[in-house]
Amino acid sequence: MRIMNKLSNPTEIARETLKQLAMRRMVPSPDHYEAIYHEIAQTPELERIHPGLKELIEALSLLPQQSPATARQIEQIRQAIQQEKWSEIPESIFRIISSQADQASLTKNWSELIRDLILQWDLRNPSYPPSRKKEALDRVLLNFKQDSTVLNEKLNGLINAWAETGVASATVVDGISNADELSAPLPDTSTSNEVVNWREWRDAFAQALEFGLATKLLHNPDLKAETLAMTLEAKAVDSVAMMEKWLPRLRKFWLKLELENDNEQRLCDGLMGLLRLLTDNMAAIVVDDEWVRGQIAVVQHIMAQPLDMRVIYDAEVGLKEVLFKQSQVKHSLVEAQTVLKNMLTSFIDRLGYMSESTDKYHDKINTYAEKIDSANDLTSIRHVMEDLLQDTRSMQLDVRRSRDDLLEARQQADEAHRRVTELEAELSRLSDKVREDQLTGALNRRGLEDAYEVESARAMRASSPLAIALLDIDNFKKLNDSQGHAAGDSALVHLVKVVKDLVRPTDTVARYGGEEFVVLMPDTDLDSAVQVMLRVQRELTKRFFMHNNEKMLITFSAGVTLYRAGETRDASIERADQAMYQAKKTGKNRVITLD
Ligand code: GH3
Ligand code: MG
Ligand code: MG
Repeated sequence: MRIMNKLSNPTEIARETLKQLAMRRMVPSPDHYEAIYHEIAQTPELERIHPGLKELIEALSLLPQQSPATARQIEQIRQAIQQEKWSEIPESIFRIISSQADQASLTKNWSELIRDLILQWDLRNPSYPPSRKKEALDRVLLNFKQDSTVLNEKLNGLINAWAETGVASATVVDGISNADELSAPLPDTSTSNEVVNWREWRDAFAQALEFGLATKLLHNPDLKAETLAMTLEAKAVDSVAMMEKWLPRLRKFWLKLELENDNEQRLCDGLMGLLRLLTDNMAAIVVDDEWVRGQIAVVQHIMAQPLDMRVIYDAEVGLKEVLFKQSQVKHSLVEAQTVLKNMLTSFIDRLGYMSESTDKYHDKINTYAEKIDSANDLTSIRHVMEDLLQDTRSMQLDVRRSRDDLLEARQQADEAHRRVTELEAELSRLSDKVREDQLTGALNRRGLEDAYEVESARAMRASSPLAIALLDIDNFKKLNDSQGHAAGDSALVHLVKVVKDLVRPTDTVARYGGEEFVVLMPDTDLDSAVQVMLRVQRELTKRFFMHNNEKMLITFSAGVTLYRAGETRDASIERADQAMYQAKKTGKNRVITLD
């Protein structure tokens, strides 16, 4: 094309056009004239087309949803106009119209969007701490403030990303932090992602119902059946509309569950009330026995705490000791009672006999008195006197015999009473001597108290380290729940056996609570004590606990500390407990120290 100076006068342009047509030997058709005219006038591309088409393109460019797809279609229309491919234009227009509808459906209603944004802002997501959310939101607001449609899309993208969890979201985080990605169009998959997430939620919910809730409802078959039915219904939910229809039913179910919980709590409270009543009365029954009363007071104190399984176990241990003592005392009481009963029976027999014989003598004396009254000669009086003397002598004999019997019976009763008192004293001494836990053979708390006193005193005297470890079995409740309490008990026995096998004979192993044990290691520094605990943990992975011919791995978390000169047992165990708690918090099956 030739370069020419731009002419602005239409007459000059028209003259020059005619000249060019002639020079280029072109047929002077209207089209050729127009083309050369624009060339000379250097009319911009857009102004060369028909004003109607120009209006059309402008109108399309003003459509509310200017997505890249729309821009592409407008460009295609422009090219079609230039190349005069009129038949392509309608199709492009249709595409624009339908993409407008799609875009509109992608653009969320603003109020809905803000609500979702606030909701997701408040929800915790480990992949998106609040600082990260703020950063992403700032960037989106800054980059897309000019275009509300794109802003809407981007904000929606943020909401979706925040709503995702775990590994999947990590990639989104990276995407968000990249400004280029942010300016790229929203991926077409965003809607399908939403659906996938929604389904995942549904499946997770159904699983929670089936495996989380239903398995906990063994004691309530009706509610369990209903939970399983709800699970099936949840699984069948296949659309948002269906879900919305199903939600009221779910709400009703929750309500029922809540009421059920209430009932259970009431049942528990009722049972505890009964137990309290029982122990209160027990205390009244055994007023004479200080030791038993002391034990009951301990049990009552334990039950005054908020209810949990450990409290119940501690109460059970206390009650068992009371029952043991009671059964022993009862045995000796029954013995004493038998003796006293025999004594009483014989006393009553004697009494009966006595009164019988005194009656007889009374009658006889009356008869003798009458005979004496009516006697009118000495011979007959002498006879009466002789009979009377005879009878009196035998009566004396009877009385003496009865008195001797009574004395003997009283001696027997005194003897029985003395034996009961002796037995009770003996029993008290024995109970106080019980230093071992009956189940595991480890020392009990009383035993630990003694051992601590001895070992701490020795450590102070010799200035040698005394290590104290507190072990707590991991997930023991789960083992109890799944395998039964007897299995739990055997596991405790197994653990104590392994620990005892691995520590030195001079170390002390004591049961501190339900599934908690204290090991005192004299002459042992912190590192060596940790090594001992690790050795026990390793051994447990080799010597499995066997239950129903199945190998079960028992693990424990341990806290280890060193005795500080002069401190109490509670203080040092408290420190070991803190370390043990750290071990639990950082993943269990480990040993943590606290100096
Ligand atoms: P963690 O790993 O956090 O220690 O969990 P856990 O389940 O071991 O601990 P938690 O304190 O929640 O539960 C301890 C359970 O131990 C409570 C009770 O069911 C059980 N338990 C306590 N004493 C005994 C007992 O003598 N025999 C049996 N079989 N179970 C006991
Ligand atoms: Mg525990
Ligand atoms: Mg435990």
